[in-house]
Amino acid sequence: MPAQKPQLLGLDRQSLEFLLAGWGESPFRAKQILQWIHGRQITDFAEMSNISKALRARLSEETQYAEPEILADQLAADGTRKWLLGLPDGNAIETVFIPEEDRGTLCVSSQVGCSLACSFCATGAQGLNRNLDTHEIIAQIRTARQIQGLDAITNIVFMGMGEPLLNLRQVLPALDLLRDDFAYGFGPKRITVSTAGVVPGLDRLGAESPVNLAISLHASRDEVRDVLVPVNRHYPLAELLDACRRYPLLPRRRITFEYVMLDGVNDSDADARALLRILSGIPAMVNLIPFNSFPGSDYQRSPQKRIDAFRDIILRGDVMTVTRRPRGDDIAAACGQLAGQVRDGRRSIPLRVQA
Ligand code: SF4
Repeated sequence: MPAQKPQLLGLDRQSLEFLLAGWGESPFRAKQILQWIHGRQITDFAEMSNISKALRARLSEETQYAEPEILADQLAADGTRKWLLGLPDGNAIETVFIPEEDRGTLCVSSQVGCSLACSFCATGAQGLNRNLDTHEIIAQIRTARQIQGLDAITNIVFMGMGEPLLNLRQVLPALDLLRDDFAYGFGPKRITVSTAGVVPGLDRLGAESPVNLAISLHASRDEVRDVLVPVNRHYPLAELLDACRRYPLLPRRRITFEYVMLDGVNDSDADARALLRILSGIPAMVNLIPFNSFPGSDYQRSPQKRIDAFRDIILRGDVMTVTRRPRGDDIAAACGQLAGQVRDGRRSIPLRVQA
């Protein structure tokens, strides 16, 4: 079988330099090419005026370039916008743009579906079909920039479909491209990776690409978390929180702990006090997320009064806490509602962190 041509959009600077070195080209060409295809989003090789004709021809012949097809484009009443992006194998993923006064956040997917089966999450209910490739992660940012404008996105969060730490082989080069000044130039403080708690992946992320960290926590006791976030049975709270304590935080940053508020499940005063206890010693910020319902889910959102009481206990413990305003829930774009179109989702939990 002939070797597959490399996907140009998925090559970070190091990989591109390696490819070009094999063609006898100097490494600075990689910076120029990144600037064209990512910085300026020009993909017509003919426009790359500072690249020789011979190199442009070689790029065009020996690399491939794939962008997803926009299958649906939905705009919520609050300005949140969700795209359903079709992939060549018939799967489709979702990407959400959340505009605010002072920022534009893009929530990207890292897998087609998810194997971790969190019981309050629409993606988890689909199972996992496959990991996304680096170019498919990057294509989400490109699509959003093409539509919203090159400067519209100020922050990237890996909180869409999938568990990014189970796809580090593809996510790490994507982070390199996002942070590379010759590609997208996002500072590490503007990128957040969210995990349900895959501890070995967390250590590796901290060692290789320390960006902001968010933990999908959702419970302060193992017996509750085992049900809500089943990966807790492999990496229980004590292990996860130890990993948080050793994570190399960026200066003046906190770890965000996401906590979905489920009526009668995890929202008691005792749960709030237990949360304070387990977070002790961690620079933490708690995000309370009123549950967003989806078809087939049995959970109910905690009443607002309960959410407020829970928040007040955390605040009295001197931990920063905000209650997240649901964004885009009228188009199923809010937290936990992303479903995409996942073919043949398998429900297994392959917890190996890739080399
Ligand atoms: S919450 Fe995140 S980790 Fe859990 S099933 Fe959903 S996408 Fe997967």
